[in-house]
Amino acid sequence: MYVMLLGAPGAGKGTQAHVLAEKLDLAHVASGDLFRDNLKQGTELGLLAKSYMDRGVLVPDEVTIAMVKERLAKPDCQQGAILDGFPRTIEQARALDDALKEMDKKIDKVLSIDVSEQELIRRLSGRWICRNCQASFHESSRPPKKAGACDECGGELYQRADDTVETARKRLDVYNEQTAPLIDYYGQAGVLVDINGEQDIELVLSDLLSVLQR
Ligand code: ADP
Ligand code: ADP
Ligand code: ZN
Repeated sequence: MYVMLLGAPGAGKGTQAHVLAEKLDLAHVASGDLFRDNLKQGTELGLLAKSYMDRGVLVPDEVTIAMVKERLAKPDCQQGAILDGFPRTIEQARALDDALKEMDKKIDKVLSIDVSEQELIRRLSGRWICRNCQASFHESSRPPKKAGACDECGGELYQRADDTVETARKRLDVYNEQTAPLIDYYGQAGVLVDINGEQDIELVLSDLLSVLQR
């Protein structure tokens, strides 16, 4: 099963993908995490991506598509994956369709997680991420049990450089212009399901699971 979580920055894609991947035994493929891994390792791709991420704009399609295709070719993705943050443009969506077709596979469901802009900004500016396992916390909505440490692995929590209010607003504009058209794209393909993302984390999860286990 190949599932894509579609939603603006801060919608809860990473939070939900983390749990869904474990529950459904699927790989979690997060393009933003892949870029940040590259940056941590000091690769050329990481440095290139950073120059875009810092400004809140998208990394060019060609580079992003090549990186995700390489990830999808790995053994753990052969039985399925939860895609989180990819595709983000129509060109990426077309490339993904082609890549899956070559593997004799297809996107089964696209879950569109809807959250208001005001709540997105609130979530992004209070977000803390685990350096070790990438789990996402929030200073008021999902505080870690021990300040500064990940509940799951004890790793150190940090705030992303692009989670400032200013860069978050830029990312929301980019989402509305370049990514929101995917709602129509997948709607026409008949795989889109809308999810109300403005509920508690557990309720969003149960809505997602009920669609996927149907
Ligand atoms: P969020 O979870 O807040 O939406 P991500 O971690 O998915 O953020 O993405 C952070 C940044 O990484 C984006 O602002 C963009 O610069 C880059 N990025 C991630 N995924 C893609 C993609 N599919 N295409 C282009 N750029 C991407
Ligand atoms: P995305 O990957 O879509 O950018 P995240 O999963 O990182 O979003 O979530 C953004 C922030 O909002 C995090 O701080 C997370 O703890 C918090 N969050 C996620 N889902 C919810 C929710 N349903 N209600 C309140 N806060 C949430
Ligand atoms: Zn952790």
